[in-house]
Amino acid sequence: MTRGRISEHVVESVLKAHDIVEVVSRYVRLTKRGKYWKGLCPFHSEKTPSFAVTPDRQIFKCFGCGLGGTVITFIQHIENLSFAEAVRKLAEEAGISAAEAEVAADLTRQEEWRGAWFDLYELACSFYQHILKFTEEGKRAVAYLRGRGIGPEAIETFRIGFAPARWDALADILRQKRIDPSIAEESGLIVRKADGSGFIDRFRERIMFPIFDDKGRVVAFGGRTLDGGEPKYLNSPETKLFSKSSTLYNLHLARPAVRSDNTVVLFEGYVDVIQAWSAGERRGVASLGTALTEEQVRRIRRLAERVVLCYDGDSAGRAAALKNAELLESGGCSVRIAVLPDGCDPDEYIRRFGGERFRREVIGAALPSVKYRLHDFRKNFRLQEEGERHDYVRGAVEFIAALDLATEREHYVRELAAELAEFGVSESVLRQDVEAAHLRLRSRRRFDGKRAALAKRGLSGSAGKASSGSAVFDVERPDYWNAERFLLAVMMADADVAFQVQQELGESFHVAEHAALAAYLYAFYAAGRSPDLNAFMATLQDPKLEALAAEIAWGGPTGPVPPQAVEDCIQRIRFHWIKMEIERKKEEMVRAERAGDPLEAARIASEIISLESRWNFVSSGNV
Ligand SMILES: [Zn+2]
Repeated sequence: MTRGRISEHVVESVLKAHDIVEVVSRYVRLTKRGKYWKGLCPFHSEKTPSFAVTPDRQIFKCFGCGLGGTVITFIQHIENLSFAEAVRKLAEEAGISAAEAEVAADLTRQEEWRGAWFDLYELACSFYQHILKFTEEGKRAVAYLRGRGIGPEAIETFRIGFAPARWDALADILRQKRIDPSIAEESGLIVRKADGSGFIDRFRERIMFPIFDDKGRVVAFGGRTLDGGEPKYLNSPETKLFSKSSTLYNLHLARPAVRSDNTVVLFEGYVDVIQAWSAGERRGVASLGTALTEEQVRRIRRLAERVVLCYDGDSAGRAAALKNAELLESGGCSVRIAVLPDGCDPDEYIRRFGGERFRREVIGAALPSVKYRLHDFRKNFRLQEEGERHDYVRGAVEFIAALDLATEREHYVRELAAELAEFGVSESVLRQDVEAAHLRLRSRRRFDGKRAALAKRGLSGSAGKASSGSAVFDVERPDYWNAERFLLAVMMADADVAFQVQQELGESFHVAEHAALAAYLYAFYAAGRSPDLNAFMATLQDPKLEALAAEIAWGGPTGPVPPQAVEDCIQRIRFHWIKMEIERKKEEMVRAERAGDPLEAARIASEIISLESRWNFVSSGNV
């Protein structure tokens, strides 16, 4: 998603030449709702529209999957193009020939280096495949793979290879083929010798699993040792083509099956994916690393609505499954978790019971995440012991009570009752307990919501129409978070306010992404530009920041904002810095006391007092 070297001038001329509503309408049925146009998001599957376009601001935003940006961003994603390719397409349509020429030159440059990189990985991949298939040492690897249920068909499909036990096997080939050593080094396939006298192979005596991009091109490798050497798995470093946090292994092969079933099966690692594929499960993908990133969640959500997590049956695997289930659910996926026998991983299960049973009894019988959590919780108790049984019932009741849907609560009350029937626990008593706990929870939530709303009354009161029904401002979030977003929204529309904030706050925003947006805004205005949301978003180098800018601008105030509202927000942000400083000092003071240093503790105490008086000053300033 590199932006290449296209000038801002070209980007702006392309943006100005297109109306976002008109362009989006070619792909999405939009209906007018007041100032916005709404429709079903083309980037994730949904039944009620959460995708919106605003002609005033010329941006789109999906409140389901989070994607948002300018018309260029839209074309990029819907046509699966790079930034430069999207600009070229839009320039062609608008007949802006100057823009076309510049973009064409940039694309040639990009295609050249990308082409060189792809060729290099392709060469390495074929080399490793050759070693595996046709050499003595390759036979060891084939035997090992066969032992793990990976046969010739899978070896061919996933292009598995072997890196020989030599220091410079690949380095030699690259030299013979006259590959530019600086590119080869940057690609992470070879490493410069410590004395600088040449290069050695990064991967030696390892089974090589190529990692593919969305289009099935090799962009990195994972290498596994054969003899238990360390580290067991070695991956390519991050490069211009390969980012671990956005990669989903096997996406290019799994896509058709995933789409037709509207289901992704997520495994812990690529070896699991290959084994499951050999066992007939073709919807498998894996992240490279246990915790999913937000970007991976978004990509999964765009592919399918349902996710089955199939992680190892040990405590680490269960913990990772629960954590990722939560991430996926908050990203809008419906999640099931496969249950493997204790201590068993997918590999072992398939070898013991076969692929058919794996698909039917593990993947097919995966539990809804709520049920899995209960199941997991249940493991901590021996129901025969009265005390433990009571603890279990209490915990389970609290858990079920937190479910929003009455039908869901009813379902789990019945299951719990069936489980406890032999101990004489009555279903109707359980139901009463659950409903009572549910009401308590609801009233507590309402109270918290009201308190948060009161706390931000100053903000919404002076800011007028700050929130327009979107999730941009959120009463559940801390005060400074809302204040920062409100300020940024105003700054995007008003250079004077941006200048004032720069003087008074600089980049001291609490949320890193907010600080980054502020920095880009300062730079934008410093270049003599006047407020222009689309032009500003085109200067952001990062699709995530662009989506955030769209989100914030979306919910921003529509008319002029009183100066007091701006001052108010600045104070709130400062207020939080002081509060954090006081908390830090208090911890320091406790440490000094514990260390038996009363003088130091007293000195810190006086610092706290002076901070607190500043706090009072700041907070009384905006009553
Ligand atoms: Zn969406």
